[in-house]
Amino acid sequence: MTDHARPIFRFAPSPNGLLHLGHARSALLNAAMARAQGGRLLLRIEDIDPSRCRPEFEAAIEEDLAWLGLDWERPVRRQSEHLDDHARALKRLAAMGLVYESFETRAEIRRAVETRPGWPRDPDGAPLFPFARDAMSAAERDRRRAAGEPFALRLDMARAVGRAGPLTWHETGQAAPVAADPLAWGDVVIARKEVPTSYHLAVVVDDALQGVTHVVRGEDLKAATSVHRLLQHLLKLPEPLYTHHALLLDAEGRKLSKSIGSRSLRALREVGLSPADVRCMAGVSLE
Ligand code: GLU
Repeated sequence: MTDHARPIFRFAPSPNGLLHLGHARSALLNAAMARAQGGRLLLRIEDIDPSRCRPEFEAAIEEDLAWLGLDWERPVRRQSEHLDDHARALKRLAAMGLVYESFETRAEIRRAVETRPGWPRDPDGAPLFPFARDAMSAAERDRRRAAGEPFALRLDMARAVGRAGPLTWHETGQAAPVAADPLAWGDVVIARKEVPTSYHLAVVVDDALQGVTHVVRGEDLKAATSVHRLLQHLLKLPEPLYTHHALLLDAEGRKLSKSIGSRSLRALREVGLSPADVRCMAGVSLE
Protein backbone atom coordinates (compact mmCIF):
# COMPACT_ATOMS: atom_id res chain seq x y z
CA MET A 1 0.00 0.00 0.00
CA THR A 2 1.44 3.42 -0.85
CA ASP A 3 1.76 5.73 2.14
CA HIS A 4 -0.92 7.89 0.60
CA ALA A 5 -3.55 5.17 0.73
CA ARG A 6 -2.84 4.03 4.28
CA PRO A 7 -5.41 4.83 6.96
CA ILE A 8 -4.22 7.29 9.59
CA PHE A 9 -5.04 6.86 13.28
CA ARG A 10 -4.11 9.14 16.14
CA PHE A 11 -3.99 9.07 19.91
CA ALA A 12 -4.51 12.60 21.24
CA PRO A 13 -4.00 12.96 25.00
CA SER A 14 -3.82 16.20 26.97
CA PRO A 15 -0.66 16.54 29.08
CA ASN A 16 -2.50 17.60 32.22
CA GLY A 17 -1.74 14.52 34.29
CA LEU A 18 -0.38 11.00 34.10
CA LEU A 19 -2.01 8.48 31.77
CA HIS A 20 -4.26 5.88 33.37
CA LEU A 21 -5.67 2.58 32.17
CA GLY A 22 -8.44 4.29 30.18
CA HIS A 23 -5.84 6.16 28.13
CA ALA A 24 -3.92 2.92 27.66
CA ARG A 25 -7.06 1.33 26.23
CA SER A 26 -7.56 4.13 23.72
CA ALA A 27 -3.92 4.21 22.68
CA LEU A 28 -3.74 0.42 22.35
CA LEU A 29 -6.97 0.24 20.35
CA ASN A 30 -5.63 2.86 17.95
CA ALA A 31 -2.42 0.89 17.57
CA ALA A 32 -4.19 -2.45 17.13
CA MET A 33 -6.61 -1.07 14.54
CA ALA A 34 -3.80 0.69 12.68
CA ARG A 35 -1.82 -2.54 12.65
CA ALA A 36 -4.78 -4.61 11.45
CA GLN A 37 -5.50 -2.17 8.62
CA GLY A 38 -1.94 -1.47 7.56
CA GLY A 39 -2.38 2.05 8.88
CA ARG A 40 -0.17 4.72 10.43
CA LEU A 41 -0.30 5.82 14.06
CA LEU A 42 0.23 9.43 15.12
CA LEU A 43 0.51 10.93 18.58
CA ARG A 44 -0.89 14.42 19.08
CA ILE A 45 -0.36 16.39 22.25
CA GLU A 46 -3.48 18.45 23.00
CA ASP A 47 -1.89 21.18 25.08
CA ILE A 48 -3.94 24.28 24.29
CA ASP A 49 -4.72 24.99 27.95
CA PRO A 50 -1.54 26.50 29.41
CA SER A 51 -3.03 26.59 32.91
CA ARG A 52 -3.33 22.79 33.06
CA CYS A 53 -0.74 21.34 30.67
CA ARG A 54 2.87 20.73 31.66
CA PRO A 55 5.94 19.53 29.75
CA GLU A 56 6.73 16.89 32.37
CA PHE A 57 3.36 15.23 31.70
CA GLU A 58 4.09 15.28 27.98
CA ALA A 59 7.41 13.51 28.60
CA ALA A 60 5.61 11.01 30.85
CA ILE A 61 3.03 10.29 28.11
CA GLU A 62 5.74 9.33 25.63
CA GLU A 63 7.57 7.26 28.20
CA ASP A 64 4.45 5.38 29.29
CA LEU A 65 3.31 4.70 25.71
CA ALA A 66 6.74 3.39 24.74
CA TRP A 67 6.77 1.19 27.86
CA LEU A 68 3.38 -0.22 26.78
CA GLY A 69 5.01 -1.31 23.54
CA LEU A 70 3.63 1.38 21.23
CA ASP A 71 5.39 3.19 18.45
CA TRP A 72 4.19 6.24 16.54
CA GLU A 73 5.41 8.56 13.82
CA ARG A 74 7.55 11.58 14.53
CA PRO A 75 7.46 14.51 14.77
CA VAL A 76 4.68 14.57 17.33
CA ARG A 77 2.23 17.41 16.70
CA ARG A 78 1.85 19.72 19.67
CA GLN A 79 -1.34 21.74 19.30
CA SER A 80 0.07 24.80 21.05
CA GLU A 81 2.56 25.18 18.18
CA HIS A 82 -0.20 25.42 15.58
CA LEU A 83 -2.48 28.11 16.93
CA ASP A 84 -2.19 29.94 13.60
CA ASP A 85 -3.92 27.05 11.87
CA HIS A 86 -6.75 27.24 14.37
CA ALA A 87 -6.93 31.03 14.04
CA ARG A 88 -7.32 30.72 10.25
CA ALA A 89 -10.25 28.35 10.70
CA LEU A 90 -11.77 30.66 13.28
CA LYS A 91 -11.55 33.54 10.82
CA ARG A 92 -13.44 31.55 8.24
CA LEU A 93 -16.24 30.82 10.73
CA ALA A 94 -16.30 34.48 11.71
CA ALA A 95 -16.51 35.51 8.05
CA MET A 96 -19.64 33.36 7.79
CA GLY A 97 -21.16 35.40 10.63
CA LEU A 98 -21.21 32.38 12.94
CA VAL A 99 -18.99 33.61 15.78
CA TYR A 100 -19.64 36.27 18.41
CA GLU A 101 -17.85 37.76 21.38
CA SER A 102 -19.34 36.85 24.73
CA PHE A 103 -18.22 38.94 27.69
CA GLU A 104 -20.52 37.30 30.23
CA THR A 105 -18.52 36.07 33.19
CA ARG A 106 -18.88 32.64 34.76
CA ALA A 107 -20.71 34.23 37.69
CA GLU A 108 -23.15 36.03 35.37
CA ILE A 109 -23.83 32.77 33.56
CA ARG A 110 -24.31 30.88 36.83
CA ARG A 111 -26.75 33.50 38.16
CA ALA A 112 -28.77 33.45 34.94
CA VAL A 113 -29.03 29.67 35.06
CA GLU A 114 -30.03 29.70 38.73
CA THR A 115 -33.02 31.89 37.95
CA ARG A 116 -34.29 29.40 35.36
CA PRO A 117 -35.15 26.07 36.99
CA GLY A 118 -34.92 23.18 34.56
CA TRP A 119 -32.65 25.10 32.21
CA PRO A 120 -31.29 22.54 29.68
CA ARG A 121 -27.84 21.04 30.01
CA ASP A 122 -25.42 19.89 27.36
CA PRO A 123 -24.45 16.21 26.94
CA ASP A 124 -21.59 16.73 29.44
CA GLY A 125 -24.03 18.06 32.03
CA ALA A 126 -23.07 21.75 31.85
CA PRO A 127 -25.91 24.28 31.48
CA LEU A 128 -26.34 25.63 27.96
CA PHE A 129 -25.19 29.22 27.49
CA PRO A 130 -28.21 31.11 28.82
CA PHE A 131 -27.95 34.38 26.90
CA ALA A 132 -28.95 35.33 23.37
CA ARG A 133 -26.21 36.45 21.00
CA ASP A 134 -27.41 40.06 21.19
CA ALA A 135 -28.38 40.01 24.89
CA MET A 136 -25.59 42.44 25.71
CA SER A 137 -25.93 45.82 24.06
CA ALA A 138 -23.28 46.83 21.56
CA ALA A 139 -22.39 49.76 23.84
CA GLU A 140 -21.83 47.47 26.83
CA ARG A 141 -19.73 45.13 24.72
CA ASP A 142 -17.63 48.06 23.48
CA ARG A 143 -17.19 49.24 27.05
CA ARG A 144 -16.01 45.82 28.27
CA ARG A 145 -13.71 45.37 25.27
CA ALA A 146 -12.17 48.81 25.86
CA ALA A 147 -11.70 47.91 29.54
CA GLY A 148 -9.68 44.88 28.39
CA GLU A 149 -12.13 42.39 29.89
CA PRO A 150 -11.66 38.78 28.76
CA PHE A 151 -14.20 37.28 26.40
CA ALA A 152 -15.03 33.98 24.82
CA LEU A 153 -15.83 33.56 21.16
CA ARG A 154 -18.94 31.47 20.84
CA LEU A 155 -20.42 29.64 17.89
CA ASP A 156 -23.92 30.84 17.01
CA MET A 157 -25.23 27.29 17.03
CA ALA A 158 -28.70 27.92 15.61
CA ARG A 159 -27.29 29.88 12.71
CA ALA A 160 -24.48 27.35 12.11
CA VAL A 161 -26.92 24.44 12.11
CA GLY A 162 -29.29 26.37 9.85
CA ARG A 163 -26.46 26.89 7.40
CA ALA A 164 -25.21 23.28 7.51
CA GLY A 165 -28.53 21.40 7.56
CA PRO A 166 -28.80 17.86 8.93
CA LEU A 167 -25.51 16.03 9.45
CA THR A 168 -24.50 12.47 10.28
CA TRP A 169 -21.33 10.54 10.97
CA HIS A 170 -20.21 6.99 10.40
CA GLU A 171 -19.50 4.88 13.44
CA THR A 172 -17.62 1.58 13.12
CA GLY A 173 -19.90 -1.38 13.59
CA GLN A 174 -23.08 0.57 12.93
CA ALA A 175 -24.71 0.08 9.57
CA ALA A 176 -26.79 3.26 9.71
CA PRO A 177 -25.17 6.70 9.97
CA VAL A 178 -25.50 8.40 13.36
CA ALA A 179 -27.53 11.64 13.33
CA ALA A 180 -25.51 14.57 14.69
CA ASP A 181 -27.26 16.83 17.21
CA PRO A 182 -25.06 19.90 17.63
CA LEU A 183 -27.97 21.99 18.95
CA ALA A 184 -27.77 19.92 22.15
CA TRP A 185 -24.56 21.83 22.95
CA GLY A 186 -25.91 25.38 22.62
CA ASP A 187 -23.54 28.21 21.74
CA VAL A 188 -20.26 26.44 22.56
CA VAL A 189 -17.06 28.35 23.19
CA ILE A 190 -15.01 28.08 20.02
CA ALA A 191 -12.06 30.21 21.20
CA ARG A 192 -11.03 32.44 24.05
CA LYS A 193 -9.37 35.79 24.18
CA GLU A 194 -6.27 34.39 25.84
CA VAL A 195 -6.30 30.94 24.15
CA PRO A 196 -7.48 31.63 20.60
CA THR A 197 -8.82 28.12 20.06
CA SER A 198 -10.83 25.43 21.84
CA TYR A 199 -10.90 21.64 22.08
CA HIS A 200 -13.60 21.41 19.40
CA LEU A 201 -11.89 23.71 16.92
CA ALA A 202 -8.37 22.38 17.44
CA VAL A 203 -9.40 18.75 17.17
CA VAL A 204 -11.16 19.13 13.81
CA VAL A 205 -8.50 21.39 12.30
CA ASP A 206 -5.64 19.15 13.40
CA ASP A 207 -7.36 15.91 12.39
CA ALA A 208 -7.80 17.37 8.91
CA LEU A 209 -4.27 18.80 8.65
CA GLN A 210 -2.78 15.51 9.77
CA GLY A 211 -4.92 13.55 7.29
CA VAL A 212 -6.54 11.52 10.07
CA THR A 213 -8.97 9.03 8.54
CA HIS A 214 -9.94 7.11 11.70
CA VAL A 215 -10.80 8.69 15.06
CA VAL A 216 -10.76 6.10 17.85
CA ARG A 217 -11.56 7.48 21.30
CA GLY A 218 -13.67 6.89 24.40
CA GLU A 219 -17.44 6.92 24.46
CA ASP A 220 -17.34 10.03 26.65
CA LEU A 221 -16.43 12.02 23.52
CA LYS A 222 -19.17 10.55 21.32
CA ALA A 223 -21.62 13.41 21.87
CA ALA A 224 -18.92 15.97 21.00
CA THR A 225 -18.73 14.38 17.54
CA SER A 226 -21.90 16.32 16.70
CA VAL A 227 -20.01 19.59 17.10
CA HIS A 228 -17.01 18.18 15.24
CA ARG A 229 -19.11 17.14 12.26
CA LEU A 230 -20.69 20.59 12.15
CA LEU A 231 -17.29 22.31 12.16
CA GLN A 232 -15.94 19.89 9.55
CA HIS A 233 -18.90 20.66 7.30
CA LEU A 234 -18.63 24.43 7.71
CA LEU A 235 -14.86 24.40 7.16
CA LYS A 236 -15.10 21.91 4.29
CA LEU A 237 -12.87 19.38 6.04
CA PRO A 238 -13.02 15.65 5.35
CA GLU A 239 -15.08 13.37 7.57
CA PRO A 240 -13.11 10.67 9.40
CA LEU A 241 -14.62 7.32 10.38
CA TYR A 242 -15.38 7.26 14.12
CA THR A 243 -15.03 4.53 16.72
CA HIS A 244 -16.12 5.39 20.26
CA HIS A 245 -15.08 2.59 22.54
CA ALA A 246 -16.63 1.63 25.88
CA LEU A 247 -14.88 3.16 28.87
CA LEU A 248 -13.16 1.16 31.57
CA LEU A 249 -14.88 1.63 34.90
CA ASP A 250 -13.53 1.36 38.43
CA ALA A 251 -14.94 -0.95 41.09
CA GLU A 252 -17.60 1.67 41.91
CA GLY A 253 -18.67 1.90 38.28
CA ARG A 254 -17.14 5.35 37.72
CA LYS A 255 -15.17 6.14 34.58
CA LEU A 256 -11.44 6.28 35.26
CA SER A 257 -10.08 9.78 35.56
CA LYS A 258 -7.31 11.80 37.08
CA SER A 259 -9.83 13.68 39.20
CA ILE A 260 -10.92 10.57 41.15
CA GLY A 261 -7.32 9.46 41.59
CA SER A 262 -7.41 6.48 39.21
CA ARG A 263 -4.11 4.67 39.32
CA SER A 264 -1.70 5.91 36.71
CA LEU A 265 0.17 3.59 34.34
CA ARG A 266 3.27 4.74 36.14
CA ALA A 267 1.89 3.55 39.47
CA LEU A 268 0.95 0.19 37.95
CA ARG A 269 4.46 -0.11 36.61
CA GLU A 270 5.96 0.79 39.97
CA VAL A 271 4.06 -1.97 41.75
CA GLY A 272 5.66 -4.44 39.34
CA LEU A 273 3.10 -4.98 36.59
CA SER A 274 4.53 -5.70 33.15
CA PRO A 275 3.43 -4.05 29.90
CA ALA A 276 1.70 -7.33 28.99
CA ASP A 277 -0.22 -7.24 32.32
CA VAL A 278 -1.35 -3.68 31.64
CA ARG A 279 -2.33 -4.46 28.04
CA CYS A 280 -4.39 -7.33 29.38
CA MET A 281 -6.05 -5.08 32.01
CA ALA A 282 -6.81 -2.58 29.24
CA GLY A 283 -8.38 -5.41 27.27
CA VAL A 284 -6.32 -4.97 24.09
CA SER A 285 -3.74 -7.37 22.76
CA LEU A 286 -1.10 -6.19 20.32
CA GLU A 287 -0.38 -9.66 18.96
N1 GLU B 1 -7.50 15.43 24.12
C1 GLU B 1 -8.73 14.73 24.39
C2 GLU B 1 -8.65 14.07 25.74
O1 GLU B 1 -7.56 13.87 26.26
C3 GLU B 1 -9.04 13.66 23.36
C4 GLU B 1 -9.34 14.22 22.04
C5 GLU B 1 -9.87 13.27 21.00
O2 GLU B 1 -9.50 12.08 20.99
O3 GLU B 1 -10.62 13.71 20.16
O4 GLU B 1 -9.68 13.74 26.30
